Amino acid sequence: MILVLLGPPGSGKGTQGALLKQRLGFEHVSTGDMLRSEVSKKTPLGLKAQEYMNQGLLVPDELIVEMIKTLLSNAPDKNYVFDGFPRTVNQAEAFEAMLKTMNLDVDKVFYFDLDDDIIVKRLSGRRVCPKCGATYNIYYQKPKNDNLCDYDNTPLVQREDDKEEVIINRLKVYKEQTSPLVEFYKNKNKLYVISALGSQEEVFERLKSLL
Ligand code: AMP
Repeated sequence: MILVLLGPPGSGKGTQGALLKQRLGFEHVSTGDMLRSEVSKKTPLGLKAQEYMNQGLLVPDELIVEMIKTLLSNAPDKNYVFDGFPRTVNQAEAFEAMLKTMNLDVDKVFYFDLDDDIIVKRLSGRRVCPKCGATYNIYYQKPKNDNLCDYDNTPLVQREDDKEEVIINRLKVYKEQTSPLVEFYKNKNKLYVISALGSQEEVFERLKSLL
């Protein structure tokens, strides 16, 4: 089964992807996480991607499509949940063509719906543990001790692209380049709209009932 999580930055795609992995055994593919790992290892792809990511811009389609092609061709017969991919109509078309060559197709696309003012608060308040990846929010989901990870006491950090000036750009990029995918998948009868408001458990229940 191939699922796609679609929605603005901060709508909870990463959290729901992690729950699908933890509880239902899906392979969680976050292109953002893959790219951040390349950046921290300073690979040629990472160095190229970093310039775009720090400005809140999308990394060029061909780099992303190549990354996904490599991943899928190594293990085509798993259950996947894609989080943050595809992000442009161009990527969605390339994805479809690639899947077709493997006799696969996207099964369902879950669109997480959330208003702009909440998105900004979720992103600007997000803090992550650089060691274990746990995420917190200084407004909604504080760590037990100020700015320290609950699991390993590591000081939390803010993602470069969660800074206010970059958030505005990410939202603009989302509206211009990613939101057309809502129509794209609606026309293919694959789109399921989920309210992203509420706790992660509430959202996960909504998602599960549509699976
Ligand atoms: P995310 O963690 O999904 O918010 O992604 C962080 C950043 O990685 C984005 O702002 C983009 O610069 C880049 N990125 C992640 N996924 C993609 C994608 N599918 N296409 C292009 N750029 C991406």
